[in-house]
Amino acid sequence: MTASDIFRERFGTEPEGLWAAPGRVNLIGEHTDYNDGFVLPFALPQRTVAAVRTAAPGEWTVCSTFADDPITFGETEPGEVTGWASYVAGIVWSLRDAGFDVPGARIALDSDVPVGAGLSSSAALESSVLTALIDLGRLDLPLERRPALAQRAENVYVGAPTGILDQSASIRCQQGRALFLDCRTYEVDQIPFDLAAEGLAILVINSNAPHQHVDGEYGARRKSCEEAARILGVPALRDVSVDGLGDALGKLDDEVMRRRVRHIVTENQRVLDTVELLRAGRTRDIGPLLTASHASMRDDFEITVPQVDIAVESALAAGAHGARMTGGGFGGCVLALIEADRADQVVAAVEKAYTKAGFTAPTCWIATAGPGAARL
Ligand code: ADP
Ligand code: MG
Repeated sequence: MTASDIFRERFGTEPEGLWAAPGRVNLIGEHTDYNDGFVLPFALPQRTVAAVRTAAPGEWTVCSTFADDPITFGETEPGEVTGWASYVAGIVWSLRDAGFDVPGARIALDSDVPVGAGLSSSAALESSVLTALIDLGRLDLPLERRPALAQRAENVYVGAPTGILDQSASIRCQQGRALFLDCRTYEVDQIPFDLAAEGLAILVINSNAPHQHVDGEYGARRKSCEEAARILGVPALRDVSVDGLGDALGKLDDEVMRRRVRHIVTENQRVLDTVELLRAGRTRDIGPLLTASHASMRDDFEITVPQVDIAVESALAAGAHGARMTGGGFGGCVLALIEADRADQVVAAVEKAYTKAGFTAPTCWIATAGPGAARL
C-alpha cells in the first residue's frame, strides 16, 4: 500500500499532497557531527512518503504502513506520545516550541528505507512530516534551520541523543551531489557525485547484523569526546587539527580517550581530503581514505562488529577501491567504492565470506545520490 492508499483507506478522503524525504548514506565522516566537525552524506533513492491533509487546529492523527491503528494527539510535551508516533509528535512539538503555528493534520506514512540499518529511517520520517507541515502551514522556516528543528524532535521528544548529520542529509541533500556539511556553522557545499559517469558505483552492503547496545555505546563515545575537549580546553574536538594531534594526545592520560580523539581528528581530515579529491575529479583516489576511515572506526573508535569488518575485507579483496562501515555503528551497513562492472563479483565475494563465517546473509544494492526532502 502506498501512503496515498493508506490515507484514503483510513481517512476516507484524498490527501492534499505528498511529501517525500530520503534516508542517507554517509560517504565519510563518522561521529564527527557532534564534535562540530565535517560530514559528507548523500541521499538515498529510498525514502519516506507522507500523505497529508490539514485538519482541525491543535489535532494530529498519524498512521503508517508500519502500524495497525492511527494515533491521535493534541498539543503535547516530550514523553506524552511514545513509540513510532513520537517522531511525528516530536516534529509538531519542536515547531511549536520554536514559535510556529503548526496546522493540525492527518498524516499517512509509507517508507522503503530499511529500519534500524543505519540508513536513517528516523530522519526520513521526521523530515517528510516537517516539510509537509511547513508547506501546508506556509511557515517561514529556511532550509538551513530545518535540520536542527528535526534534530531537537529526536533528541528531546524521542530521547535519542543523535547529532545533526541525519536530518541535514535528508533535508539538504541534492540529486547527484554529496553534501559537504560543516556541523558547526551548518554551511554546506554541494559536491558533484555522479559516479555512473565515471564507470564507478557505491555498493551498499546491509550487514543485517542485529544492533546491540547502540544507545549506551553511542552515549559513551559522545561523553568521551566531550570530556576530552574539556581537558584540552577547546570548544569541541573539531578544534584539534591533525598537526596538533600529537600535542593533544600528550595531554590525555586515558588510553581509551586518546584513541577516541585520534579517530575524530583524523576522520575530520579524511572528510576534507575526500572533498578535495572529489572536487579535483579524482574519485577513485578516495578509496584509501574510505578504508582508512574503517580501520579508524574499528581500532580507535571501536564501533564495528565482525559482520561489517568481514564485509569490508571481502569487498576489498574482490577489488573494491575502498570500503567502510557507514552510520553510527554496532551493525548497520558498509559501503564500497567499486568499478560498476564489478558489482556481481564483489557481491558474490561478500556473500561467500558471510556464508563461511556463518552469518545471516547480507543485502546488497547499488546506491545513487537521490534528491532531498520535497513535495512530490
Ligand atoms: P534508523 O534511523 O537507523 O533506521 P532508528 O532507530 O533511529 O533507526 O529509527 C527507527 C525507528 O523510526 C523505528 O523503530 C520507528 O519507530 C520509526 N520509523 C521509521 N520509519 C517509520 C515509518 N515509515 N513509520 C513509522 N515509524 C517509522
Ligand atoms: Mg535514526
